[in-house]
Amino acid sequence: MKEKGFTTTILHSDRMGSPEHGSLHKPIHTSVAYGYEDARDLAAVFQNRSAGFAYGRQNNPTNKALEEKITRMEDGVATVCCGTGMAAISQSLLALLRSGDHFVSSSFLFGNTNSMFQTLRTVGLEADFVDATDVANVKAALKPNTKLVFVETIANPATQVSDLKRIGELCKERGLIYVVDNTMTGPYLFRPKSVGASLVTSSLTKYTGGHGNALAGSVTDTGLYDWTKFENIYDSYRGMDPARQGITQIRKKGLRDFGGSLGPEAAHHISVGAETMALRMERQCGTALRVAGFLADHVKIKKVNYPGLPDHPQHAIARDLFRHFGGLLSFELDEAIDCFDFLNRLKVVISSSNLGDNRTLAIPVAHTIFYEMGPERRASMGIDDGLIRLSVGIEDPEDLLADFAAALG
Ligand SMILES: *Cc1c(COP(=O)(O)O)cnc(C)c1O
Repeated sequence: MKEKGFTTTILHSDRMGSPEHGSLHKPIHTSVAYGYEDARDLAAVFQNRSAGFAYGRQNNPTNKALEEKITRMEDGVATVCCGTGMAAISQSLLALLRSGDHFVSSSFLFGNTNSMFQTLRTVGLEADFVDATDVANVKAALKPNTKLVFVETIANPATQVSDLKRIGELCKERGLIYVVDNTMTGPYLFRPKSVGASLVTSSLTKYTGGHGNALAGSVTDTGLYDWTKFENIYDSYRGMDPARQGITQIRKKGLRDFGGSLGPEAAHHISVGAETMALRMERQCGTALRVAGFLADHVKIKKVNYPGLPDHPQHAIARDLFRHFGGLLSFELDEAIDCFDFLNRLKVVISSSNLGDNRTLAIPVAHTIFYEMGPERRASMGIDDGLIRLSVGIEDPEDLLADFAAALG
């Protein structure tokens, strides 16, 4: 069968697993445990000899249907879904790395991921943070004990774009696991597999779910990494199909042992939300480009960060790799304007955390999500005290432009 388009594939994904009673959505399975007529079948599931469900912390039929959907969306071989994006990242790294291993990441990371990596440093992992917009910096940071490189596609809030393709080439050459957090672009705008990613992580909470009504995360194996060459695979998973060794270790040593599991109700919300991902993102990216242009031309705005603007430092990379430039931008107000007063004047835009929601959300980053980091680290990341992050929703674009015009006027 010829491969269908992005949205058609999502809409028909659940049906490929012959769901109960011909239902068009995979039902929500709330059972924690699963019974077997023959106890030997239960043992086979435990021993990875046959597919099936044992205990809800590791998987359930609703989550499995979502995992298969995400695998199709990312064009991968297998996915593990978790309770949050943070669980997907932390459990993947804890499952794959061992004390004394080194990994390289970006200086421009999602705040909580940065905080988590600092914590991993305190328990025996070595981490270095470099400007990943240039592969040369990543290369310079590699050490004999480097096992993995972790980057995001578009950084939040200042929208730096990683040197994705060349980092992929470097990782391939050095046999390193290449993890790309695809939250900001999602598989509709960009598939990290196309630049050689080994694993793709995502906060499904954001653009995949879209409605801001469920938390979830995922890690997808693209099938590009040769796990037989990775020394940290445990003997229990060595005997398996080589393509499954990494993802099985993440499910067992990560999800099973650390327990950041996704509930079936949330999996259902994310799964339904994913159906409109392409439609929502078309609108969000189109509006974001218009809002970015409007703000960039406005006298009371000092600076706008958006990869779609021609003067963005990585505009060319973003144009070459991504279908559109994303739904997130940030801007600095003229010094004379207080960022809190400005946010309070906006009537359509909501002062709120989160991104990728259907509603347009704005947040003063230095005072909120990057507050804990302190002024020096913020300055090194290019985060001005008055910087406002804007996640563009699906409202009628004219209403948003009018809201900004009024708040600035
Ligand atoms: C939100 C986010 C995460 C964490 O996801 P949660 O679902 O909130 O745990 C990780 N990475 C990026 C880039 C994010 O935006």
